[in-house]
Amino acid sequence: MKIDIAEQVSHLFAEIDRQTQVFQAATGLYCPPGCGKCCDNEHIEVTVLDCLPLAIELFEAGEGEFWLGQFTEPTRDSCLFYQADALNAGNGRCLQYVGRPLLCRTFGFGTVRNKAGAPELAVCSVHRATQAETVARSQQLIAEGLSAPNFADLAMQLEAIDPAIGRQHYPINQAMRRALERVGFQRQWA
Ligand code: SF4
Repeated sequence: MKIDIAEQVSHLFAEIDRQTQVFQAATGLYCPPGCGKCCDNEHIEVTVLDCLPLAIELFEAGEGEFWLGQFTEPTRDSCLFYQADALNAGNGRCLQYVGRPLLCRTFGFGTVRNKAGAPELAVCSVHRATQAETVARSQQLIAEGLSAPNFADLAMQLEAIDPAIGRQHYPINQAMRRALERVGFQRQWA
């Protein structure tokens, strides 16, 4: 089993979390408590490699077969790990927050490069609506040199760990199914 690859991905995730925390502390940008707007989205795409540590963790917890069944016949296009809060529209939580993919870790706090090659915050619509001044200050700090996680750089670092499964992006439920199938298959032959 490619545990070593999964460990490298987990290390990258830990570094991303560190960078994000530094950025949040420097800017004051935060997600409103309970907000799940970015998860309640049918267009999230990640790689199989993104999902590998979580797939291994689920099998080790005895939940791999259950989740493989769920992701093989998903009941919706948005992420199956998202649990909406029935009492608060727009709120919800990730059932697998600790092992979530790269995009989930950086959304709202990552940068993209503009035409001139300079990093710019990829602004979350909720952040823009609720913290306009903080968003503007964050943009200004980035322009002045504040470091922030950069989506393209992180995607390249992830891909470098295993290009065979770290390049191609799939809708998140498909990527998760592929990762679970892969881990389940490898466990059968281990
Ligand atoms: S894995 Fe978790 S954080 Fe990522 S989209 Fe699904 S519910 Fe949201």
